Amino acid sequence: MEQHTVTPPRSLATEAVHAGREDLAGLGVHAVPLDLSTTYPSYDSRGEAARLDVFAATGARLEGPPVYGRLDNPTVSRFETALARLEGTDDAVAFASGMAALTACLLARGSLGLRHVVAVRPLYGCSDHLLTGGLLGTEVTWVDPAGIADAIRPDTGLVLVETPANPTLAELDLRAIAHSCGTVPLLADNTFATPVLQRPAELGASIVLHSATKYLGGHGDVLGGVVACDEEFARLLRKVRFATGGVLHPLAGYLLLRGLSTLPVRMRAASQSAEVLAGRLAADPRVAAVHYPRIGGAMVAFEVHGDPHEVIAAVRLITPAVSLGSVDTLIQHPASISHRVVDERDRRAAGVSDRLLRMSVGLEDVEDLWRDLDGALRAAALAESVSSGS
Ligand SMILES: *Cc1c(COP(=O)(O)O)cnc(C)c1O
Repeated sequence: MEQHTVTPPRSLATEAVHAGREDLAGLGVHAVPLDLSTTYPSYDSRGEAARLDVFAATGARLEGPPVYGRLDNPTVSRFETALARLEGTDDAVAFASGMAALTACLLARGSLGLRHVVAVRPLYGCSDHLLTGGLLGTEVTWVDPAGIADAIRPDTGLVLVETPANPTLAELDLRAIAHSCGTVPLLADNTFATPVLQRPAELGASIVLHSATKYLGGHGDVLGGVVACDEEFARLLRKVRFATGGVLHPLAGYLLLRGLSTLPVRMRAASQSAEVLAGRLAADPRVAAVHYPRIGGAMVAFEVHGDPHEVIAAVRLITPAVSLGSVDTLIQHPASISHRVVDERDRRAAGVSDRLLRMSVGLEDVEDLWRDLDGALRAAALAESVSSGS
């Protein structure tokens, strides 16, 4: 008798460790196989021709064995499957970096003649730069969320937002924004929130982008990017990826899939510490303003009364470095590093003040982190009082 089993939806924590790995027991292995092949032998070139024709026509994931590493890779596919499951989308397509992923989205829409983008500042500095610089023939209209609907034109290919935004942690109402986009796809960069805190596809975004370099990898040792979206856009992205070559390395795919396993636990633990630190900073007279998102997360942005460069110079446990989302805590000065490529006036208008510091809280003990931060703030205040002669 035929059996109909309805599998209930599994929780995010369960998907994080099982999605993309369901076939492993059947294969007789426990760890994910890492396939480093660039090419694959086939004695049937007629069959390969037919499969390549299908890919060229549709961009669908290749059926059967892989052909060439730029077309697809089994280890990377597992990561894509898992990430799509976590974001609640049909599919996902992985790239060499977050910027390669964004580039592919712009090229994919541009290939349909839709090169105009409506975007809300702030965005990650290089994303802003890619849109503004015109390298890909993109024309951008910067707007406040309320201005999105009016800025949309017949050739608008994307509406692009980040929430919480890099580096100010400003939050947007994705549901309201998705509504004002009408039929234009809304691309939400979900790097800061991760699917643990926010699933933009459920709120109406049709394209969800990650710099996988950050929380998905989680250990500061992998560069990667990924786009979670519907099947139609994923097919277009696969064609762009094949043509332009911004592929994710299989070892990076392996490490990202491994990173996903602990993503919910890491996000929860780091967010707890971040909330504590945000609270202490907010109560500290040396700190002028603290930005911590309503939805939580492991990022804290704050403005100091003293010289922010002195804070960077004085941390000892915390690493003064760009990037974020690692197991250890990082701090950086956006105006000098992550958002240096953005024009000074645009940067300031977007709320990225010269006194702003951005901290990515890791998994260290929160009291050790506070001691280090407190010491760095003291050193900065001291330097300020020496230089002002007070
Ligand atoms: C880092 C980052 C990117 C770019 O990702 P890379 O992996 O460095 O190319 C894009 N968006 C956000 C929000 C980021 O923080």
